Amino acid sequence: MTPRIKILVVEDEKNIARVVSYNLERAGYQISTAYNGQEALEKIKRDVPQLIILDLMLPKVDGLEVCRQVKANPKTTQIPIIMLTAKTEEADRVVGLELGADDYVTKPFSPRELAARVKAVLRRSQKTAPADVWRCGTLEIDWGRRTVRARKTVIDLTLKEFDLLKTLIESEGRVLSREKLLEQVWGYDQAIEIQSRTVDLHVSQLRHKLGTEGKRILTAAGVGYRFKMPDEE
Ligand code: CA
Repeated sequence: MTPRIKILVVEDEKNIARVVSYNLERAGYQISTAYNGQEALEKIKRDVPQLIILDLMLPKVDGLEVCRQVKANPKTTQIPIIMLTAKTEEADRVVGLELGADDYVTKPFSPRELAARVKAVLRRSQKTAPADVWRCGTLEIDWGRRTVRARKTVIDLTLKEFDLLKTLIESEGRVLSREKLLEQVWGYDQAIEIQSRTVDLHVSQLRHKLGTEGKRILTAAGVGYRFKMPDEE
């Protein structure tokens, strides 16, 4: 029997936490719960989950800070995060996505909707592409293991940064608009100004992490980005 996927539900409203846990357990996941941000960080440190469902408005340490700390730690940066947000928390939602959260569900939501998002996010994060290694300059990307090395050093990328890099490389040097990148990497079809900024921010973080190889991500002024392929040199 394969071990069940571990999900941490972080939510201070006990009723919501209970409904979410009950439904995800029924869907076959192993659930643990934290009722405030501090408890969440402690639990994540003790027993790394494979996905985090994170309410933003939390006592002690708020959800955005939890997200920030999870994404800043190389040991946990790859854990997908689905935010639970109120309709009125749009600004926080954008900050959360910029910090590396993978998706969000707006309250009130149906347990079925949340379960579908969990499944989709897990599928994206565990996608087992053929285990071939792609090389370009000093870059070595293992698609199957989702690891990136530059000058033989492992680069810790968040889920979104990896998907962004992969999407750029897969388009083989063609320019991709911010809207297209949002759609392909984040899965949104409505491209609004504030979300385009999310793309810019992730590109800049990705370039920074890749060091000198970051120069391969070229800006197409006013449009978007493209990846400079090995055969262009
Ligand atoms: Ca709350």
